[in-house]
Amino acid sequence: RAKEAGGAGWRFYDATMNEEVSERLALRNGLRQALERGEFVLHYQPQFSLEDGTLVGVEALVRWRHPEQGMVPPMRFIPEAEESGLIVPIGLWILREACRQAAAWRTAGLEVPRVAVNLSAKQFQRGDVAADVLEALSAAGLPPTGLELELTESILLRGADTVLDTVRRLRGLGVHLSIDDFGTGYSSLAYLQHFPVDKLKIDQSFVRRLGEGGDAQVIVTTIIQLARSLGLGTIAEGVEDAATAERLSALGCLQGQGFHFARPMPPAELAVLLAGRQRAEAALRPS
Ligand code: C2E
Ligand code: MG
Ligand code: MG
Ligand code: MG
Repeated sequence: RAKEAGGAGWRFYDATMNEEVSERLALRNGLRQALERGEFVLHYQPQFSLEDGTLVGVEALVRWRHPEQGMVPPMRFIPEAEESGLIVPIGLWILREACRQAAAWRTAGLEVPRVAVNLSAKQFQRGDVAADVLEALSAAGLPPTGLELELTESILLRGADTVLDTVRRLRGLGVHLSIDDFGTGYSSLAYLQHFPVDKLKIDQSFVRRLGEGGDAQVIVTTIIQLARSLGLGTIAEGVEDAATAERLSALGCLQGQGFHFARPMPPAELAVLLAGRQRAEAALRPS
């Protein structure tokens, strides 16, 4: 078969491979430059209590403001940033910037109880995450309770002593910890006993299919019950409509995040939204 395909087939294959490699190298160099030139920005997506509608926090989500391509979503560059190790310096910038922004909101009188930052596994393998977090908090003047770190199951499942040690140190600082995309990782729940986390984030793939009943509903119900019996909080991500929010609330899920409530937005836009909410609440309070 290989003979039939002939030399041309191989040349085509080689060309494709080379193209892929050079595209990745270009992306890698682009990411390095983006960091130097300050082209990364953070958008923030509000998270709400499903019980009383109050704002419980915001998640920081990185974007690359590319000079030619416009806003590049994280899925287009985070994988290469992780592969190349550049996620370590980029992640450090994200951590510092999110803490700085959270402290600035407080100074401006805007009530953002907590900012959640996503961490990659690479940030745990290399470098000293706990030291970075402590440094970012004190540089910003943000109390540790104002920061939440979103870990993935893959970080915890690696289960090395150093990971456990780091997670315990972070928790010891008073930083909140959640497990992102919960339910999509390998199904070892044993690590939940060892890692002192606060909250499970129910993955949006289950949330989106909740209305269909069936498997998704069973999984979401099970996660909520598991969290409750371990004394952990729950937040559903990817809540896109009112019916889903109501279903989640009825199942006992405590918090929600998704387009139904608000999309991720630049900090200036979030400030306008929060100021409006705070004015409305103040107007309702008896004076
Ligand atoms: P994630 O942490 O699970 O973030 C949730 C993603 O779902 C975000 O996409 C958000 O915009 C999107 N989303 C929120 N609500 C809805 C909804 O109702 N419907 C739908 N269809 N989507 C919704 P985004 O911002 O594109 O981020 C994608 C992923 O990129 C994140 O998933 C996270 O894994 C990664 N990422 C984003 N920012 C960072 C970061 O600062 N550091 C690291 N390490 N990873 C990040
Ligand atoms: Mg997340
Ligand atoms: Mg998630
Ligand atoms: Mg997700």
